Amino acid sequence: MTDFQAMLRADLRGGSPYGAPQLDVPVAVNTNESSHPVPHDVVEAIAAAVTRVAPGLNRYPDREFVELRTALAGYLSVTTGCEIDREQVWAGNGSNEVLQHLVQAFGGPGRIALGFTPSYSMHPIISRGVGTTWVDGLRDASPDRFDIDTDLAVAQVREHDPHVVFLCSPNNPTGTALRLETVTAVYDAAPRAIVVVDEAYAEFARPGTPSALTLLPGRDRLVVTRTMSKAFAFAGVRLGYLAADPQLTELLRLVRLPYHLSSVTQAVALAALTHARTMLSMVEQIKASRDALVQGCTRLGLDPVPSDANFVLVGGFADARASWQHLLDRGVLVRDVGLPHHLRITAGTMQETQSVLDALALTLDQDGKGTA
Ligand SMILES: *Cc1c(COP(=O)(O)O)cnc(C)c1O
Repeated sequence: MTDFQAMLRADLRGGSPYGAPQLDVPVAVNTNESSHPVPHDVVEAIAAAVTRVAPGLNRYPDREFVELRTALAGYLSVTTGCEIDREQVWAGNGSNEVLQHLVQAFGGPGRIALGFTPSYSMHPIISRGVGTTWVDGLRDASPDRFDIDTDLAVAQVREHDPHVVFLCSPNNPTGTALRLETVTAVYDAAPRAIVVVDEAYAEFARPGTPSALTLLPGRDRLVVTRTMSKAFAFAGVRLGYLAADPQLTELLRLVRLPYHLSSVTQAVALAALTHARTMLSMVEQIKASRDALVQGCTRLGLDPVPSDANFVLVGGFADARASWQHLLDRGVLVRDVGLPHHLRITAGTMQETQSVLDALALTLDQDGKGTA
């Protein structure tokens, strides 16, 4: 038998792949998808768009996806009030691919990427996948606080002098948004770094939460990533994007595979962007469902972290792993993110949130609650 572990790149040996379970359960609230199907008018527009491009599928797609970049720049400009040009926008098959392009271009062997844990588990996986050394920074000196302590972040950035810094706002899995002062302080403390702010959940932030897009003018090492997977209810399409300095985005063409966005992906994403208002129409309802989830968990004696996203990190479980299993036994799949006494729960439809709260009540009777 071949010893593939021995053949594997040494820095990958013993690693674990991304592995959120994909189970067929009545209430799947573990990957922060939208629970709301794509609305009928948009389904029709998508079908028509695919029909239009289908005869041309014998040809490669537009390698520079100009029309899509223009539409994404327009979407960002309209929804955030920041003026974003087409040349600033880059896209990939999910923001995961866009993040990979960034570390392929600016990280890699002999280079350092720094993030502040707990945060999105893919930041270290993508960084290490291209040979970048990953440094797990601390968010706050006390283990039960999830906000980033700006002074502590600045000190860690100065100590490690990274090539890439990952920030995430609102942060997954904690749900908390960053203050812009934290972003600028980290940016100023990392003079040779590309500073990435992952804003996958920006559309769910509570009013008055500014986007890091507002910081782009005059900061050419700053990158803001977004995705159509969450608020846009389009996770199955795989379309993520970023906004940054035009010269930076230009360099990402060195590492992307040619024609990485298929003609079908481009057409479908464009059709959905044309119906952006309809695609986003569920966001307010999801925010209400999130707030109901926070209130319901509080009533149950749990300890939910305030959230600017479409999910809630809930503390107060005596044994998070046992409660995860007991919820699953009741048809409710949530996420064990590996934080003791915590589970992460996506805000689905109001009905799903009620099912989650009902299942939680039964589970807490069974397991008792914890150690808050
Ligand atoms: C879900 C998520 C993404 C989205 O990834 P896609 O590849 O665009 O689906 C990116 N960043 C964070 C923090 C996420 O939670």
